[in-house]
Amino acid sequence: MGRLFLVTLEGKSYSCKHCKTHLALCDDVVSKSFHCRHGKAYLFSKVANVTVGVKEDRLMMTGLHTVADIFCVKCGSIVGWTYETAHEEDQKYKEGKSVLERYKVSGPDGSNYWVRHETQIISGGEEDQV
Ligand SMILES: [Zn+2]
Repeated sequence: MGRLFLVTLEGKSYSCKHCKTHLALCDDVVSKSFHCRHGKAYLFSKVANVTVGVKEDRLMMTGLHTVADIFCVKCGSIVGWTYETAHEEDQKYKEGKSVLERYKVSGPDGSNYWVRHETQIISGGEEDQV
């Protein structure tokens, strides 16, 4: 295993709830109106310090998307998913952007968004844009 290279984000950021690795800047939030199975999820124009999993097609509420799960580079926790391709014309704006599940990350003030039942293993993929 090589040494991990972690990017430090300057400014208000969201970080991994488990290991505090910076994942995305508040300034890079595109939308806070996403939902996953465990509640809120935010769309970011870019994220840092993540590894990208296997691409797969998922049929979401807004149509078919090619997505890949993203994981914290330090502790390996799944933190959300990234959009490779949106197959619906009006969803193209999501391409290259990433979603972080709110309960997986700590907010800029260190706040956590707790949910009562965290035992389920989830892999993102559900959304419901308002
Ligand atoms: Zn982590």
